[in-house]
Amino acid sequence: MNLFITLAMAAGIPLLIENVTLLSPEQAQPLGNRHVLIRDGRIAAVSDKAIPAPADARRVDGSGKFLTPGLTDAHVHVSDAVGLPFEMQDPDLAAMAQEFFAQQPRSYLYFGVTQVLDTANRPDRVTLFAAQKQHPDIYRCGVAPVVDGYPLVFVDKAIRHTFFNDYIFEPANAREHPLPAGARAAEHTPEAVVERIAKSGALCVKVTLEDGFGDATDWPVMSAETLRRVRVATKKHGLFLAVHANALDMQRIAINGDVDLLLHGVWNWNQLNDSLGMPAVIADHLRTVRDQKIGYQATLRVNPGVTDLLDPGLLEDPMYAKVVPPRLLAWYRTEPAQWFKRLVFGPNVDAAAVLAGQRTANGRWATSEKGMRALRHLYELGQPMLLGSDTPSAPTYGNQPGYDTYKEMQLMVQAGIPLSAIFAAGTINNARQLGLEKDYGTIEQGKIANLLLLDANPLASLDAWTKIDKVILRGEPIDRETLAADAR
Ligand SMILES: [Zn+2]
Repeated sequence: MNLFITLAMAAGIPLLIENVTLLSPEQAQPLGNRHVLIRDGRIAAVSDKAIPAPADARRVDGSGKFLTPGLTDAHVHVSDAVGLPFEMQDPDLAAMAQEFFAQQPRSYLYFGVTQVLDTANRPDRVTLFAAQKQHPDIYRCGVAPVVDGYPLVFVDKAIRHTFFNDYIFEPANAREHPLPAGARAAEHTPEAVVERIAKSGALCVKVTLEDGFGDATDWPVMSAETLRRVRVATKKHGLFLAVHANALDMQRIAINGDVDLLLHGVWNWNQLNDSLGMPAVIADHLRTVRDQKIGYQATLRVNPGVTDLLDPGLLEDPMYAKVVPPRLLAWYRTEPAQWFKRLVFGPNVDAAAVLAGQRTANGRWATSEKGMRALRHLYELGQPMLLGSDTPSAPTYGNQPGYDTYKEMQLMVQAGIPLSAIFAAGTINNARQLGLEKDYGTIEQGKIANLLLLDANPLASLDAWTKIDKVILRGEPIDRETLAADAR
């Protein structure tokens, strides 16, 4: 699968960045007065001595600026037109969706995200993303839910198993969730599904351990035996195994199944949900995550991304005009655009109370507070931090491409994670977790030249990640403001 159309575009003209301060996460300190030569989309040389400029090179003066690797957001869903309904008969809405998909990759780049991992199941939308002229490098997981399981539970029963073919038949659920009529059993074993996903060019298989949101606990879940077979099959095909699980009991199944990556933090503590501090049971769980070297994405933005819909100032945030196409932004202000807010909160929600509840330990929408406590504890145990925003986690216009990656980092700061650990999370740690450290994560010779030229030091303040002078995409320097949704 060759997604990298920009490679051809960038090939040929070398780029020389001179006198820059290099921030590369394998270095203990920033390195001043460095010179970086980029050829054919890759880093050709890094030196503390001046590099003679090739005759045809473009030169960028890096004086007073900081050069970093581009960020990787390892949990996004590029298939969803943020905030729009799933079914769009209305031609105006369909046109807005197309405008969204055209802008989306540029919005990620606007916030310095030059690599994404998509964990939904729409290879066609991944292709559309990669077909835009300027886009982050995109990788994907294939999703393998069980029959009638999450996320199929949200798709109409009549079409859910044709819309989404890579489902696994779970023998333990056979009585209530039999193989759909017309399906062939041999095509829905763990081995067959994982093989199909491997052949589709995915990096990973995602399984979902989710027995319900809110008060629901009756959605069908994969058995330990089936998860074991998925694990064996992913190893055979060289894929990593990622799991959607955010509840303590579900994450325990994942850990017992020897998975590679938890795609959410543990924020549903089951019977311990009202606990303050760090209950011993949660501390034990987090220690096991660390001891078994399981990757852990906190995804702290999931629930605030929904409650943000109640914030009357949300759409006045000037950053919205940078990442949302103008017509879609205008539509967000209309009554029909509040459909998801009504669905979640009902018609008579006390917005102020919900927003206040978000900041306390109790209450249905306070989950990210527990997620932050868990993340901080895990950090103190020495767990490598990862960056994954889960944008959008729901059809909420509170989660926007790129901007939400930045907001995820803001919540990590709020959780007590140091800036250096957040820097490592978005660069080298994510690259390693995805098995892509040969190409990304540091500024070293041979790596893909997806870099950021910043006006401020992100090890000194988080908002340096918004002070982007240029996004360098496979050696092609792009002025940040040209990527904005309101640029033209
Ligand atoms: Zn997700």
